Amino acid sequence: MPHRRTCVLALTGLAAAAVVAAAPPVPAAAAPAPEKSPVAIGTGGAVATVDPDATRVGLEVLADGGNAADAAVAAAAALGVTEPYSAGVGGGGFFVYYDAASGTVSTIDGRETAPLAMGAGAFLDDSGAPLPFQEAVQSGLSVGTPGTPRTWERALERFGTRSLAQVLQGGIRLAEDGFVVDPTFAQQTADNADKFARFAPSAELFLPGGAPPAVGSVFRNPDLAQTYRLLAEQGVAPIYTGRLGEEIVQTVQHPPMAAGAADVRPGLLREVDLARYDAPLREPTRIEYRGLDVYGMAPPSSGGSTVGEALNVLEQFPLGSLPDVPALHTYLEASALAFADRNAYVGDPAYTQVPLAELLSQEYAAERACALDPAAAAAKPVPAGSPDGEYGPCPAAGGPTTGAGTEGPNTTHLTVADAAGNVASYTLTIEQTGGSGITVPGRGFLLNNELTDFTFAPADPNRPEPNLPAPGKRPRSSMAPTIVLDDGRPVLALGSPGGATIITTVLQTLVNRIDRGLDLPAAIAAPRASQRNGPATEAEPAFIAAYGPQLQALGHQFTPVTEIGAATGIEFLPGNLMLAAAEPVRRGGGSAGVVHTVPGAGEDTVPAPDLGDG
Ligand code: GLU
Repeated sequence: MPHRRTCVLALTGLAAAAVVAAAPPVPAAAAPAPEKSPVAIGTGGAVATVDPDATRVGLEVLADGGNAADAAVAAAAALGVTEPYSAGVGGGGFFVYYDAASGTVSTIDGRETAPLAMGAGAFLDDSGAPLPFQEAVQSGLSVGTPGTPRTWERALERFGTRSLAQVLQGGIRLAEDGFVVDPTFAQQTADNADKFARFAPSAELFLPGGAPPAVGSVFRNPDLAQTYRLLAEQGVAPIYTGRLGEEIVQTVQHPPMAAGAADVRPGLLREVDLARYDAPLREPTRIEYRGLDVYGMAPPSSGGSTVGEALNVLEQFPLGSLPDVPALHTYLEASALAFADRNAYVGDPAYTQVPLAELLSQEYAAERACALDPAAAAAKPVPAGSPDGEYGPCPAAGGPTTGAGTEGPNTTHLTVADAAGNVASYTLTIEQTGGSGITVPGRGFLLNNELTDFTFAPADPNRPEPNLPAPGKRPRSSMAPTIVLDDGRPVLALGSPGGATIITTVLQTLVNRIDRGLDLPAAIAAPRASQRNGPATEAEPAFIAAYGPQLQALGHQFTPVTEIGAATGIEFLPGNLMLAAAEPVRRGGGSAGVVHTVPGAGEDTVPAPDLGDG
């Protein structure tokens, strides 16, 4: 087990860009990429995103006196330009906010909804079999009512100090002037080229001249600049009750196919779905872990409940004093138990009774911990527990069992803090990288495929399935924007993309930081493994190299995956310093920044004060 240590990091060093196969070549006169660093320490506010332009836009809003909510929306709008395959006004997300004045954590549920015309069998074919996943993704059918514009509006009206018009200016400039294509954007375009080529406006926008844009070229999106200008002038009404909404509906119902491309399934979205869409404020989830308060996103996301339940189970074990292998074994097993319950019990709370308080109770965690053998991995999938309020020591295993879902390595997370101590932890997405693949003609943004997060057919027809489609329902999410308080004040905020691996990435990073004593950059950079109640644990090669044989001896199996997650986070350090951290390597490396760098602060070392009483 690595003990409390500091990590040597050059603050000015650029993150190593991921080497990507078959990415388009660098043109002769490539524009210089903007500078970025995965770590920054300073004062006056901090921003961590996956992208240097988005981080810069957020920092500009903070430097201009905007607060964390203002800067988070501004950075999200910038990500809609530079990360259009992961985020944008055609998608949804979850916004978790700590308001320093009141000392409270609130959340906004900006999840997409199913159209009112969608029934439980929407993703079954005529024979009753689930549609092939990619057929469902690349269709109008998978497009849910976008929630991101309403989230931005709500975040600003509830927490912000700036207008939508003000915070969209950075995104407008970026879309108008363009950004320098980096290897990650080029590779994501190449990976989605077949999908984009099926839809005329997507091919025109993202495959200029019939090919992905070259690394180092400047990518402009004047249509998106125009869309943002419209929202700046008129607010989000054009999307929910206006002409732009009509165009979205038309696009979903009649996907704009490229010449010669086979038709895809049309969608069910109508104007009424847009008009009735709301992004409600919801109570956050809250659990205590090692004396800290961990706040997360409640259903319809399974992020807060699953991270919270796993932490409650882990608290039954002395992780901080265990060597690496037993500590990681415990982490993997607790994750499997929490995923069993997630799959069995979590869905949109307006449609299914989610036993949230029980799932997050200490008593239930104590009962669940009985199923965790410190010396051997359980056979997976493990059964779900019985969060029924009646707990005793080590009940016989029972309850429904379901497998892991089909979610991809997509999405984006940003973390922002301001000088007053407000914090935004915001995960947003259009679901798959590239979403449905359908761009709204002339508007510069992709539509989501979020409805493929519904379970297409029950795994066990004899058990209730909480995540089947229904009219107006929100599909279950894994997004887990998280804020940690100590004695009512924020100490840490973080989140990640990555479908269901979001949950394990957030969980593992918290364990690394709180229990294993790693500083935040090291906690983020550490090799990852994701156990989601499947027979094998997905793990990065470095994880398998370091711990694989010893964990295999305990009964774990591993499936190697190149990368898991792309986290960002902010930690509040003693002396009013803020530490912003992003990935050094994953997804091409992220970008952390602060409003004022403090000379000498953290230039050679990153502090890792003890967090909590673990
Ligand atoms: N749709 C996913 C979710 O809500 C996020 C997209 C992804 O990261 O795969 O959990």
